[in-house]
This record gives sequence, structure tokens and C-alpha cells, in this order.
Amino acid sequence: MTTREACCSCGQLRVICQGEPVTVALCHCRECQRRTGSAYGIAAFFARADVLVSGTYLDYDRPADSGFRVLHHFCPSCGSTVFWEPSRKPETVAVAVGAFAAPDFPAPRKAVFEQHRHPWAAVVLDR
Ligand SMILES: [Zn+2]
Ligand SMILES: [Zn+2]
Repeated sequence: MTTREACCSCGQLRVICQGEPVTVALCHCRECQRRTGSAYGIAAFFARADVLVSGTYLDYDRPADSGFRVLHHFCPSCGSTVFWEPSRKPETVAVAVGAFAAPDFPAPRKAVFEQHRHPWAAVVLDR
């Protein structure tokens, strides 16, 4: 079975994921732009049982545009958000795809909040 590890910039917060993600989604919303400091965020959703967290983290809870809350977990030393828990999908844990630093990670299958997409940020989805 495939095992992948995501980690924060300083490396103390690690998330080990077993198997393949349930889905991979790219999000153009403004909160993801602010969270990442980039044009969009990409989340890999794994089944809760397939995710093992090591290291310490702090929480940031915010409402999503959908009205459901999202509980983000970030490293207290370097500030990277590595994973989060969307209350809309309680059976899954979302892991920041960039935190895997793995160009062979499966491509996103869908993109949401396209009304906030930076016009130059064209993405190729794995449909
Ligand atoms: Zn860190
Ligand atoms: Zn978003």
C-alpha cells in the first residue's frame, strides 16, 4: 500500500497517509488564497483511519462559504497549515497537497469557487 508523508516547513508536524486519497480538490476561494499565500489551495481528502498525525499543532476554526465550519491545524513553529477537518465531510481529513512536496501526487479531480480564480491560473484536472 502506498504511504505518503506531508509535513510543515520546519518538519516537526507530520501527517502520514496510507493508500490513495478519496478525492483531490483544488479550491480558488479567497480563504485558501490567504491560507496558502498563493493563488489557490489543493486538498487531498483521506479517510480518517488512513491518517496518522505526529508533532504539535494549533487550531484555526473558520466558517466556509458553504456555511460548514473548517478546523485548520498548523505548526506553531513555522505556521504551515498541514491538515484540516471539514465539518461537511466528517469522515475525512484534508491534507494540504503542497505539504507532500511530491510532484507525482495525484492531480485534482475537481475545482471549486472558480468565480475567485486568478485569470492566469489555468488548471488541468484529472477528470
Ligand atoms: Zn513547522
Ligand atoms: Zn478554499
